[in-house]
Amino acid sequence: MSIGSGIVLELEPVSCAVCGTDPASSKTVFEGHDIEFRTCDNAFSFVECAGCGHWYLALRPKEKDIDKIYANYLTQNKDSAYHPSGLVAWVKRNVFDKQRMKHVLRNLHDRSKVLEIGAGSGRQLEYFGEISPCPIELYANDICFDDATRKALRSKDIRLFEGAIENVETEARFDAIIGIHVIEHVIDPKAVFQWMSDHLAPGGVLYFETPDTAAPARYVFKDNWGMTHFPRHFHLFSRETLAALARRSGLEIVRHTATTSAPAWNMSIRNSMKMDALTRHHSVFEIFNYSNVLTLSFFTGVDLFLMLLGFPTSTQQLIARKPVMGGKR
Ligand SMILES: [Zn+2]
Repeated sequence: MSIGSGIVLELEPVSCAVCGTDPASSKTVFEGHDIEFRTCDNAFSFVECAGCGHWYLALRPKEKDIDKIYANYLTQNKDSAYHPSGLVAWVKRNVFDKQRMKHVLRNLHDRSKVLEIGAGSGRQLEYFGEISPCPIELYANDICFDDATRKALRSKDIRLFEGAIENVETEARFDAIIGIHVIEHVIDPKAVFQWMSDHLAPGGVLYFETPDTAAPARYVFKDNWGMTHFPRHFHLFSRETLAALARRSGLEIVRHTATTSAPAWNMSIRNSMKMDALTRHHSVFEIFNYSNVLTLSFFTGVDLFLMLLGFPTSTQQLIARKPVMGGKR
């Protein structure tokens, strides 16, 4: 298919980041293009590692081109169909985030240190500070913050770690580390888990959300499943591969379950219609975006129903803990 970006990136072959197996004997699971943000014309494919079953982007953009594949990305581009409206953002924050963060909140005490990996604008982290039952210290990590964000976060006493988290050197030990839809974007998930395990205080919790490869939507939409997100997702995890990474880094699993993931349905439908997310289109299918309360509510209902029946959704939620020496807390 034609993307029409006029940009063809130079891609590099990679081995499995979890077990190191060469991709030669792996099998292809998804193929596609950057339909969403039209950043490049390349064709991409996810493969399943023959060694450990991990799914990853076989030929991926080079580190020097990372800024190119995040051009006009959902967090910055307010005209994008993936930018939530004020109402949707309010409901997400006040109804859903508070509920899903309760496992982390109950682990906090006075002056707890909380780090968010892939913090973006820092809005989520700031909100976390607001709903915390006690005063806490906030730390934000991202590959790079723009000047305005850097200034805004520092003015709110949020400490910043810029660059890949596994390269950050700090004496700080955290009572909570949050990573929402970030581990699938990183180059080396194994190194990220090891860094987190090394930098969690004993009893500290990890809260992660990431796509779930067992989602019913991925069987329905196949290559058009919204969580493929070509080429920004370098990895896709099953519950088994994610839990294995956490355990091997020395963490113990507290809770591993599905969480509602309504935008994934909308993204999948848009991909099937070959509709990019750069603008809002004059099409009946435009109701499948990040702002339409009707479609988001409907698919939230679908996900809650799936969860009630014990099925996965497009997003898995992992809560893990760093063991306390000499016994579990
Ligand atoms: Zn592998």
